[in-house]
Amino acid sequence: MNTPQTNKLQNALLAWFGAHARVLPFRGVGDPYAVWVSEIMLQQTQVATVVPYYQRFMRRFPTVQKLAAARLDSVLKLWQGLGYYSRARNLHKAARVIVNEHDGIFPDTLDALVALPGIGRYTAGAIASIAFGRRVPVLDGNVMRVLCRLYRLDDNPKSPAAQKHLWQLAETLVPKNRPGDFNQSLMELGATVCTPKNPSCPQCPAQKLCLAYACNEQDVLPKMPKAARTPHYTVAVGLVFKDGKLLIDKRRPDGLLGGLWELPGGKKQTGETLKQAVAREIKEEIGIDVVVGQRLCIVKHAYSHFRITLHAYRCDYTAGTAKPIHCAAVKWIAPTDIAKYAFPAATLKIFTAAASLINCHLDCS
Ligand code: SF4
Repeated sequence: MNTPQTNKLQNALLAWFGAHARVLPFRGVGDPYAVWVSEIMLQQTQVATVVPYYQRFMRRFPTVQKLAAARLDSVLKLWQGLGYYSRARNLHKAARVIVNEHDGIFPDTLDALVALPGIGRYTAGAIASIAFGRRVPVLDGNVMRVLCRLYRLDDNPKSPAAQKHLWQLAETLVPKNRPGDFNQSLMELGATVCTPKNPSCPQCPAQKLCLAYACNEQDVLPKMPKAARTPHYTVAVGLVFKDGKLLIDKRRPDGLLGGLWELPGGKKQTGETLKQAVAREIKEEIGIDVVVGQRLCIVKHAYSHFRITLHAYRCDYTAGTAKPIHCAAVKWIAPTDIAKYAFPAATLKIFTAAASLINCHLDCS
């Protein structure tokens, strides 16, 4: 049973959402496949970044059947630059499960949805409420912040006890009518009004109901734990040439950047030079000997849990047969074919930085 306060909140947010929601290509679509693709892309990623990726993806794979039939390489290529590549691998895997085990019909219950690869409680709640009108909650970072402020919750919101409480709270708030719109209104409020810094309380439809605002605590809630220091690694990689061809290798399918192509190389060990690191890593990873030449560029890149500085060297093949020892595949490619393969952002930065320095055309557009 709704309390009068809950009714007021639901009405205020639904009215505000109807009038102020951003127009986005995945809004109001209702197709569970489209909702799923957009929700996966939106994880850890800004809406403005997602929109062109979403549009390209839906043009290329408009149905779950098309996605299931695609090669993983094609999916990763389309995902290139969006990051968190396990999302793309899981989308592809889950599409095949839906086609093979659910006759291509998208499951509509929370239990069946969370059983699919890459779908957690949040994504299942989003699909079930937005696409199927089920009265189930969602709790992402935006919703968590809004609820902590509305109800003046000052525990660490990431703690298991707080998470349990927040999910229960989110559940009690979802209305029977328009549960999907209500969940989206909470997410939208967190993304556009109740922002992490300087929330726009004067524009907020829930201001009269907000305990944090009443106590002037909107800038101190939620009380997030301090972020741990991110480790940094120094990595040396080689642009290895043989008869004008460039050597690339494919990462193993699971783990960070799994299934993407990259330049051979790895972390510098204590006591070795960067050039020694490149030669050792290439020998260990691919099984060939190289002469390490000039350094072409230095590239910095940040991942979610660590940062790297990549030193890229021009190398020339001298002996051995390239084989995938610590990777999934190796290939000698024409540098003009780089655009045919999916590479991580850091490798693309190397291609861009090194293009004018090496004696060939590196087209990585
Ligand atoms: S009044 Fe301010 S702090 Fe409270 S929910 Fe609205 S934007 Fe957030």
